[in-house]
Formats: sequence, structure tokens, C-alpha cells
Amino acid sequence: MVQLSTRAKLAILADAAKYDASCASSGTTRRDSRGGKGIGSTEGMGICHAYAPDGRCISLLKILLTNSCIFDCHYCINRRSSDVRRARFTAQEVVDLTLSFYRRNYIEGLFLSSGIIRSSDYTMEQMVEVARSLREDHHFRGYIHLKTIPDADPDLIHQAGLHADRLSINVELPTESGLKRLAPEKDGVRIEGAMSRLRSDMEDGQDARRKYKSAPRFAPAGQSTQMIVGADAADDRAIIARASSLYDRHKLRRVYYSAFSPIPSPSAVLPLKRPPLLREHRLYQSDWMIRFYGYDAQEIAAATDAATGCLPLDIDPKLAWALSHRATFPVDVNRAPREALLRVPGLGVKAVDRILSSRRHRRLRLDDVARLTTSIKKLRPFLIAADWRPLALIDSADLRARVAPPARQLDLFA
Ligand code: SF4
Repeated sequence: MVQLSTRAKLAILADAAKYDASCASSGTTRRDSRGGKGIGSTEGMGICHAYAPDGRCISLLKILLTNSCIFDCHYCINRRSSDVRRARFTAQEVVDLTLSFYRRNYIEGLFLSSGIIRSSDYTMEQMVEVARSLREDHHFRGYIHLKTIPDADPDLIHQAGLHADRLSINVELPTESGLKRLAPEKDGVRIEGAMSRLRSDMEDGQDARRKYKSAPRFAPAGQSTQMIVGADAADDRAIIARASSLYDRHKLRRVYYSAFSPIPSPSAVLPLKRPPLLREHRLYQSDWMIRFYGYDAQEIAAATDAATGCLPLDIDPKLAWALSHRATFPVDVNRAPREALLRVPGLGVKAVDRILSSRRHRRLRLDDVARLTTSIKKLRPFLIAADWRPLALIDSADLRARVAPPARQLDLFA
């Protein structure tokens, strides 16, 4: 491999990391202040934003240790057969970069992933060494997220959890058949086996901390995973069912969705077009419904289109569910339990909690509810208030058209 400067490696390995979805800023437009106009840039190498367990938005140095890989996953730009420019950091170089970015106040933590070099164990050892050295040699207190390699020795993954805040293992594709077809060297059983071991390591760690304050923390920010959407034929029903079972079985903190985006020199088995980005957004909304609104995967499946198995793109899944379960509505804002209010389209968790505390003191009117939501139009047919009873509105044939957001002119160049 040609000797590259640290800056050149950073350019390659930060760019290669952008396909990972655990970064809220990766979809933004390109802007920079070169040429003397303005200030700032969205094209700086390797810095992304993520949310810490306490809800703070933090900046992370997001890079790969290397973009070389002995695997050949069809959807991946770093696969063995891809002709991208390769680079590799040493563990020491990643430690030095993290510390120097941290000291300059550019970042609050590190997100480190890697292609697989030599073997899963060898690669995992290098990643663990980065985290170990940051914590033990430099007493680094910032956030560390390590992508772990499911085939690596469980002992190495355990060590990763002793240094990192969060660990993640990608399931990659929603179905076993998709995984076999597009990532033939990966194995769904081994992936879920590694997730399950992580779950029990985390539970053991929490038990130990309850008994002994001095017990070491183990991945206190939990584990997460990522699924690629639109690279195989899996519909939203299958994706939501898989995500829900992962949450249940492995106690994941988050399932991230990444809309498949065509890569340079793509493999012939991949679709030519990316799925609409809105599909990824709808899946995130359904994920929110499971985690915060009390729906289960079967209920959300009832909101999908019978023919395609996908969530509608023109309305959000909570509204789609309400439209297909009209007998559940309207609910009385002054009497309904929290779970029923959480199912009213347009009412979020904060709004529901404020309704519950306000109605202890007085009967709420429609105007009171309007102050808590951005769209009272969407909400009106589904709610009874002290001065509002929608009567036949919920059964009207044109209800969908009344509550759906207005169609927007498509951008020819989007
Ligand atoms: S193992 Fe990871 S880096 Fe290697 S080809 Fe597959 S997805 Fe890409």
C-alpha cells in the first residue's frame, strides 16, 4: 500500500465511514466557505453528530480504521472486489487523531468502525487497542462507540465493552435470504449470537454495579444495530417485524435504518435505484411508535399497504394506523387513558403528558389542545374535547384527504 499522509488517510477513511447510519448529519447539503464567503463547512472530514444517552447532541470523530476488507458484501463500497482507494490507520494514529481533535474542541468522542483485515480477531484487537489506549493510557473521558465484528472472539468483544460507551453489531439486511444473497460471508445466526452475548454481558455488568459501586461499567450506552433498506426485496412489514424482534430479544437501544444508496462500481445484483429517502423516514417513525407510543409490530403492519407491504409515503404511519382503525376513535381528551391519547395522530409524548397534568385542574377545550400540537386539523376528527365532538367526521369517506398533508410539487432535480 502506498504511504499516505495522515490527512490523506483521514480523507479516505472518513469518507468511507459516511455510509454508516448512526450519524444525524450525514444527509445534509454540501456547503463550504472556501473562496472567502461565509464561515464553516459541511464537508469537514470525519466529524458527525450523534445523541448521547442523556439526549445531548455530541460531535464525534467518525472514521474507519481501514477501508480494506477481506469480505465481499455486494452493497459495500469497501468490499474486496471494489476498486476504491485503500488506506489504513494504525491504532496509535487513531488515538493521536482523537486526542488532537478533542483538545481542539472539535469533537466529544469517537465513532470507530472498520473493514476486516487479516481476520475478524486481528481487526477487533486493533479496535480494542484504540479504545484501551484512549481510556487507560490517556484517561480519555469522551464518548466511544465501537462497531464490533460478530465473528470476533467473544472475549475481544467483551473487552471492547469495558472501554466503549456503546457497541453496535450490524444485522445489515432485514432477512436471512437477503443476507445470504448480498453478504454471503456473513451469518445471521452468528450475528444474533454476538448480540445475545452482548445483552447478557450488559446485564451482568449492571447487576455487578448494583452490588458493587466499583465494578467496571460495560457499554453503559447499550448496543445498537443498522439495517439497509431497499437493497433487497424485503418490504416494510418484514423490516419492522425484524426490528421489533431485535428490540425484544437483545434489548437494543436503537435500530438504525440506512436507505440503500447506489455506490460507485456497483455489483450487478444490486438495484439500480435508491429507495425514496422518505421510506427510511417512515421506518424511523414506525420505530418511534414501537419505542414510545406502545404499538407492536403487528399493529404497525396493519398500517402498511396490502399490495406492497410498505408504509404509505404521503402520510405518517401513526395517521395511517388511525385511519385503518377508526372504531378506536374519537377519544375523549378529558377522560382517555395515556395509552389511548398516545394513539391520536398529532399528539406526541410531551403533549400527552401536558394534557394529563392540565386536565387534573380543568376540562380541556379544543383550543387548549391546539396549543400543544402543530396540526389541529389532523387531530380534530380523532378527539373529543369539552367544546368539540366530531360526530360523523370519523366515518366520512373523505377523511384521509381531509387530514393528509397537502401534496407538494416534486423537485425536478431532487
Ligand atoms: S464486512 Fe463490512 S466492510 Fe467488509 S465488505 Fe462487508 S460490509 Fe463492507
